[in-house]
Amino acid sequence: MEFKRSKRLEVLPPYLFAEIDRKKKAAIAAGRDIINLGIGDPDRPTPDFIIEELGRAASEAKNHRYALDLGLPELRLAFSQWFEKRFGVLLDPESEILPLIGAKEGIAHLPLSLINPGDVVLIPEPCYPPYVSGTIFAGGKPYWLPITSANEFLPDLENIPQEVARKARLLYLNYPNNPTAAVADLEFFRSAVDFAGRYEILIAQDAAYSEIYFDEPSPSILQVEGAKEVAVEFHSLSKTFNMTGWRLGFAVGNASAVKALSEIKTNIDSGVFQAIQYAGIAAYQGYSRPWRAELLATYRARRDALVDGLESLEWEVLRPRATFYVWIPTPDGFSSVDFASMLLDKADIVVTPGIGFGPSGEGFVRAALTVDEERIKEALRRLPEVVSALTSS
Ligand SMILES: *Cc1c(COP(=O)(O)O)cnc(C)c1O
Repeated sequence: MEFKRSKRLEVLPPYLFAEIDRKKKAAIAAGRDIINLGIGDPDRPTPDFIIEELGRAASEAKNHRYALDLGLPELRLAFSQWFEKRFGVLLDPESEILPLIGAKEGIAHLPLSLINPGDVVLIPEPCYPPYVSGTIFAGGKPYWLPITSANEFLPDLENIPQEVARKARLLYLNYPNNPTAAVADLEFFRSAVDFAGRYEILIAQDAAYSEIYFDEPSPSILQVEGAKEVAVEFHSLSKTFNMTGWRLGFAVGNASAVKALSEIKTNIDSGVFQAIQYAGIAAYQGYSRPWRAELLATYRARRDALVDGLESLEWEVLRPRATFYVWIPTPDGFSSVDFASMLLDKADIVVTPGIGFGPSGEGFVRAALTVDEERIKEALRRLPEVVSALTSS
C-alpha cells in the first residue's frame, strides 16, 4: 500500500537539491576527492570534560527514567547563571527557561503553541528552513521579509504594510544569521522590540550562533529593556560546544510563550535524557575554558584562508564577523544551483545553493567552515580552473 502524504506536507516548499545530491553521491561513490563545504555541522569533537560528565551521569540508574518536563532544576539554574554572566540578563529558572531537544525542536514547535490557522508569521528570507515548516504545520501564513546586501541582511520592519503587521502574531529573527553570516547589534534588536510591542507580536530570535563570533561578542535580544515582554530567544549547545548530535537547547524569555511551548511539548515528547542534561550543566560551567578560544581561533583561521583566497581571485565577499559560514556571491550569469553544480563537476567542491534558503538567497552560495584549513586551501587551489572556465564560456 502506498499512503498519501498529508496536505500539510504537500504544501511545504519543494526540495531543490535532488539533482545536486545525486551528483554528490555519484562523485563520492566514484572515489573522487570531494571537499564538502555544504555541512552546517562542526567537525571538531565535543570537549572531553563534557563527554566525561555524560559517562558519569549515564551510569546512574536515576537518570535512566523519564526526565522532568521542565528539565532538571540544576540545568535551568546553570543556564541562568551562564546567561547572567554572558549577557547581564537575569532569567527566572522556573518560568523563563525551557530545555529543548535541540533548538530546532522548539523553533519548529513554537507556532503550534501560539499560532491559529490564518495567522501571519513574519519570516526573513533566506532563512533556516524550520521557521517555514513550523509555521505551515500550524496553519500559519508566512509573510516574507527579504534580507539582502541592500538592507545589510536586516529585515525592514517599518516597511511591512500595517494591515500585515496587525495580523502578524510571530516574527522570527536569527542573528548571527544562517545562511548569510550577518550580525545584528543591540540597536536593531531595540527597533525590533519596539515594533513587536506596537503590534503585539512575539519575536522568536534564534541565537544558535551567538557564541561563534570573531570580534565583538554577539548580543542577546533580551538585553534590550522590555524585551521579555515580547521576545523569546533560542539557544543551543550544538554549535557552541560541538554537540549537534546530543540534542540540547533552550527557549528563554517571555514567560507566557515559554509556558505555551512547554504545553505543546508535554503532549509530544518526554524531555531530554537526564545524563545529557548533566553534561549540559558541565558544558555551561566549563564555558570559559581554553578549548573555546581554540575553537574560535580555528574558525577564524579557516574564515581568513577562504576570504583571503577568494579576494586574491578578485572575488568580492564579506568577511563574516560571526557564524561559521561565508556567503559567497555567484559569478555573473550563474544561478546558485548552476554554480554549485559547476563547482561540484569541475572542482569536486560542495557548497549549498542560496536559493535553498529562500528566493532572496539566489545569487549566493553558502560555504561552511567545517573542514580543516588545509582542505579550504586545497579548494582554493582548485578554483582558478573554474574561474577560467567561466570566462572562456
Ligand atoms: C544549527 C542551527 C540550529 C540548530 O540547533 P539545534 O540545537 O541543533 O537544534 C538552529 N538554528 C540555526 C539557524 C541553525 O543553523
